[in-house]
Amino acid sequence: MSQPVRVRFAPSPTGPLHIGGVRTALYNYLFAKQHKGAFILRIEDTDSQRFVPGAEEYIIEALTWLGLQFDEGTHIGGQYGPYRQSDRKDIYRQYVDILLEKGAAYIAFDTPQELDAKRESTPNFQYDASTRGDMRNSLTMSADEVQKLIDGGTQYVVRFRIEPNEDVIVNDMIRGEVKINSSVLDDKVLYKSQDNLPTYHLANIVDDHLMEITHVIRGEEWLPSAPLHVLLYRAFGWEDTMPSFAHLPLLLKPDGKGKLSKRDGDRLGFPVFPLEWKDPKTGEISSGYRESGYLPEAVVNFLALLGWNPGNDQEMLSMDELIRLFSLERVSKSGAKFDYEKGKWFNHQYIQQKPDSELAGLFAPILKEHGIEADKGYIEQVVGLVKERVSFVKELWDQASFFFVAPAAYDEKTVKKRWKEETPAQLGELIDVLKGIGDFSAHHQEEVVKGWIETKGYHLGNIMNAFRLALVGESKGPHMFDITAAIGKEETIRRLEAAIKNIK
Ligand code: GLU
Repeated sequence: MSQPVRVRFAPSPTGPLHIGGVRTALYNYLFAKQHKGAFILRIEDTDSQRFVPGAEEYIIEALTWLGLQFDEGTHIGGQYGPYRQSDRKDIYRQYVDILLEKGAAYIAFDTPQELDAKRESTPNFQYDASTRGDMRNSLTMSADEVQKLIDGGTQYVVRFRIEPNEDVIVNDMIRGEVKINSSVLDDKVLYKSQDNLPTYHLANIVDDHLMEITHVIRGEEWLPSAPLHVLLYRAFGWEDTMPSFAHLPLLLKPDGKGKLSKRDGDRLGFPVFPLEWKDPKTGEISSGYRESGYLPEAVVNFLALLGWNPGNDQEMLSMDELIRLFSLERVSKSGAKFDYEKGKWFNHQYIQQKPDSELAGLFAPILKEHGIEADKGYIEQVVGLVKERVSFVKELWDQASFFFVAPAAYDEKTVKKRWKEETPAQLGELIDVLKGIGDFSAHHQEEVVKGWIETKGYHLGNIMNAFRLALVGESKGPHMFDITAAIGKEETIRRLEAAIKNIK
């Protein structure tokens, strides 16, 4: 029997989660759920220089909003914890010692100044098999000397000893076999005595091993680190349980030229973060999908298709369908253009799918902001009439305000175009016609009003356009008689009278 699938999302809390990171989390989630496996949150915070307060909480809140629930993590615990790397310091030290004992790693005392000097004097300097013999490390110094320095409190790092001239193969589920020669790799720092912390590479491998991770699904920017990771697994003797790798394609700018950045979002007016983020240092606010009015299911659907497709042209996919259909084999190798307009399109589609009662619930607070407390049933009715015209809940106000308040002014252009000399008299007659209607349903009103227009030989368009102007204040809105039926007879007549009185 094969091992149960265990995947992790392993962000570093260095700021708000970028939308590309959200996609990485989503693919991990879909893969885990499809295989009835575990989806784990591990916080990789060993780089204290880059730690940003609030980032971890932000990541959890964002993924919770999108419906990506973890099975284990910093916020919920689990059998493989702790899940925050800064809480695992002691664990890493043991593994550093294992590598040192095996001779797969060594201690180096070179100071930053010494390294800088070396870089200046040696073109393309790299700390590796060709240079480590000239440096101040445990390979060039006696054991006594090394011990003396350590005992005396001299700071050191532990470096991975990479053997040159060997082809290292990474089997990537998306990219296939990726081969690189070990000579291009440098002896990476795995550990720093200064803060007693491992670097990303060591912590990442040790944790993937201890947490029994079966698949590492992450952004393409980590592909260059993968050969080093393969070598680390080998150095520990963990080849048999090495996870499978899948490096996801980049998210590209909308024009496809280069990596999507926050600046593209600022320039073109779309969020690149799931939630609004306030920079704790500068106070600068970056917009988020949630605050911009996106529905979580729309964001999930949109992101799922950035770099993956179900093999046909189906675009509307629920979370359950995504879980069923997702496959790493169908993830593309090339970058995915961030088509922001498509994101809006998805939001529009999901708004149409939402029951009117739910949309009414989302619209009610916006109405309240405008000082309107309306009956739930009425809001629902209005939402049903206008929702096809909006892509965001907040646009409902613009499309539907006249259902709640009479126009305070009339659009000048429309007045010029639609308000003719004969209009006031005709609308006066219309008022009488409406007064006589008992059943004020849209259907019945339409029959009566159109009958009257026909008998009188009036121009249908002229009457209806002026009628709309009087009720809405401009030339927009759903079917005319749906509006009058909704606002009711009295209000309809009141607005007609006001228009006749006020429009010159
Ligand atoms: N901490 C890394 C990041 O911030 C994790 C990369 C990985 O998944 O291995 O993306």
